[in-house]
Amino acid sequence: ERAKLSKLRRLPAETTDGELLELQANLEIPAELPLIAQAGAQGIGLLRSEFLFLNRDSLPDENAQFDAYRSIVEAMGGDAVTIRVLDWGGEKDMEALGEGVPAPGGPNPALGLRGLRLLLKKPELLEEQFAAILRVAVRGPVRVMLPMVTIPQEVAQARDIYERVAKRLRRRGETLPEKLPPLGVMIETPGAALAADAIALEADFFSIGTNDLAMYTLAVDRAETEVAHLYDSLHPAVLRLVQFATEAALRMRMPVSVCGEMAGNAKFVPLLMGLGLRSLSMNASSIPRVKQAVRGLTIDDCARLARRVMEQSDPQRIRELVEAFAAEKL
Ligand code: PEP
Ligand code: MG
Repeated sequence: ERAKLSKLRRLPAETTDGELLELQANLEIPAELPLIAQAGAQGIGLLRSEFLFLNRDSLPDENAQFDAYRSIVEAMGGDAVTIRVLDWGGEKDMEALGEGVPAPGGPNPALGLRGLRLLLKKPELLEEQFAAILRVAVRGPVRVMLPMVTIPQEVAQARDIYERVAKRLRRRGETLPEKLPPLGVMIETPGAALAADAIALEADFFSIGTNDLAMYTLAVDRAETEVAHLYDSLHPAVLRLVQFATEAALRMRMPVSVCGEMAGNAKFVPLLMGLGLRSLSMNASSIPRVKQAVRGLTIDDCARLARRVMEQSDPQRIRELVEAFAAEKL
């Protein structure tokens, strides 16, 4: 089994009819880096930067962040790293970020000051993080990703800050790549998914976060056990949003991937492929299983599965179709 996995690591995630998929890893803490190498990930599709801000008395400054990102980017040896700026708040139940930073919370934290909203309220946070990331960009390919976007203006506002920070760094004598790293967005709210065509005008790439997308679409808290039975990424509403956002990106020839848990479930991958997705980011431990699945599939079969699934309105029926496909093909 071990030998099989290590052989698999070197093989491409290629369907039997020759379509290549990109399988990347999600990273929550740097300690997971060796796992990523072992799994044969093609870079990091989602670096959750929250770890840098947890369990400490003061905010990490630009240099501390730079050191952390640099060691990750260098460890990836030339493979791309997508760094998501701080996604504070919501179900992540964070402590205050220090003086002058509004605490996420309020009557409904998931609908409040979370992710990019908080960063735009306290732009110094975003400026420092952008600066640290931009300085790392000459050491390896990086991409920058914004969490919890709902309107195009938020992206435009973040981009203004991004470009201003780059200018300031250049004035300061820092070397930055001539072309700034791509600035993309998470599609993880129904609003962003349904306005994907509008948001695409402001963004360089999409990464669909099915964890939050399912939560917000179905009004089911990810952490609420009483309603856990209603949390279902195969609900047709969630799938239609994934489809809409994916098609908006593909029409504009903009890179699109999925980085929610759905992408790491080998049974769900054929459906995502059938919807047109070719880039998936997941827990490193899921990569071998997903790669193995991809290597036994044809795009035609996946497309047929997606067509049948998207005609259904009953989540139970969708589950049966997905399970039957997995039983036959995986
Ligand atoms: C998501 O919401 O799907 C996602 C990948 O981000 P996180 O799980 O960090 O909220
Ligand atoms: Mg999320």
